[in-house]
Amino acid sequence: MDCDDCIGSHYNHYLEDSLIMKRIVVLGAGESGTGAAVLAKVKGFETFVSDMSSIKPKYQELLNQYGIEWEEGHHTEEKILNADEVVKSPGIPETAPIIVKLKQQGTPIISEIELAGRYTHAKMVCITGSNGKTTTTSLIYHIFKNAGLNVGLAGNIGNSLALQVATEQHDYYVIELSSFQLDNMYDFRANIAILLNITPDHLDRYDFKMQNYVDSKMRITQNQTEEDAFIFWKDDPIVAKELEKYGLKAQLYPFSAIKEEGAIAYADEGEVIFKKPMDFNMEQEKLALRGVHNLYNSLAAGISASVAGISKENIRQALSDFKGVPHRLEYITTIRGVKFINDSKATNVNACWYALQSMTTKTVLILGGTDKGNDYTEIEDLVREKCVGLVYLGVDNEKLHKSFDHLGIPVADIHTGMKDAVNAAFKMANIGDTVLLSPCCASFDLFKNMADRGNQFREYAMAL
Ligand code: ADP
Repeated sequence: MDCDDCIGSHYNHYLEDSLIMKRIVVLGAGESGTGAAVLAKVKGFETFVSDMSSIKPKYQELLNQYGIEWEEGHHTEEKILNADEVVKSPGIPETAPIIVKLKQQGTPIISEIELAGRYTHAKMVCITGSNGKTTTTSLIYHIFKNAGLNVGLAGNIGNSLALQVATEQHDYYVIELSSFQLDNMYDFRANIAILLNITPDHLDRYDFKMQNYVDSKMRITQNQTEEDAFIFWKDDPIVAKELEKYGLKAQLYPFSAIKEEGAIAYADEGEVIFKKPMDFNMEQEKLALRGVHNLYNSLAAGISASVAGISKENIRQALSDFKGVPHRLEYITTIRGVKFINDSKATNVNACWYALQSMTTKTVLILGGTDKGNDYTEIEDLVREKCVGLVYLGVDNEKLHKSFDHLGIPVADIHTGMKDAVNAAFKMANIGDTVLLSPCCASFDLFKNMADRGNQFREYAMAL
């Protein structure tokens, strides 16, 4: 096979490389690291895994099953610094001492996705953005799967891409990519790339420079050719500015909430309209996901399915029967006329903005947690317009008091946990109101993670 047949990445070269390059060290043994190690091992590399914390039993078992040497609780430098190439898990920051040493000595550091991309001819559908990745990825997977395509789901959801490439064969992969994954991708090529939006997030990992974070997101377009598709939200001011700088080769598919010049998919007079590559409509009422932000997600998903050649009947059907993703504007229950909605995944202010914006009733908002440098002025107008109560839930609620108390909306200050927060919110709500958990913050001060926070919200709401 000559290089004209290479798709995705430099497939053939890397098959050869395993004969030359001997040792791959994987740092971090979660879902992505363990998958990368299995793939490296089955491709014939000497493979070593090192994790600073403890490795979950299920991953230990998998590593043992493939005869992969591993360590936990520390990094043995002699076993790491002799690597020909290192696969870094997305959770490890660039400033970790072992990464700094590897960089100083010039060892190539890549991501699990980059490694996996070398060993598959499958078409890659990649989704990134500050918000909406998981929802859109799951929706696209749902459409492709229901259309009968042989598709795998990877990235931050499901099994790692590397593990699937090592153990299964798919024609398509739908991959959720965080900026951390994109950071260590170089030759990987997305056949269909989706950039939903760019708003400030994770700035602590980007030297508090927004441009560094933006550059990271734009990497989703690198290596794309004329045969590929780039799908993006046309009205995102940051993406629009970036596009001026890049001479992208890919076919462009801009979408917008409204009919406007340049948008190839949009909503107009109760219809959702797709113009390119296939021309078709559907009733907006029939979309399974509600709210403007979810309209964007549905548009992006519909375009990518159309690019993949899925029929309009199949796309319409799947956009309307998708069940949604837990912890993203998830309806929980209605108790004595008060509706409970779990949006625990809103870990930044912009996500909460969209949640509030989609509320059709008066709302009691539960927010707070570990603040990532939040600027709450972004939601001030919506809070004033929609909220009849605010429940601050966190170890330190000082910034919330400073940001919202002056609005004169009733406030409950909770430091203990979700049970007290749900009770306080329920007391503040009247019949017909909604209690919305949309915290704007990470969850680690009081909860194991955002899912734990959402699950506790569900449990205590159901128990009222
Ligand atoms: P991600 O995987 O990027 O974190 P999710 O799909 O998990 O995105 O959604 C995270 C949060 O963002 C949820 O609160 C959800 O309601 C909100 N959200 C979903 N899609 C969008 C979008 N297109 N724009 C802004 N916010 C969104």
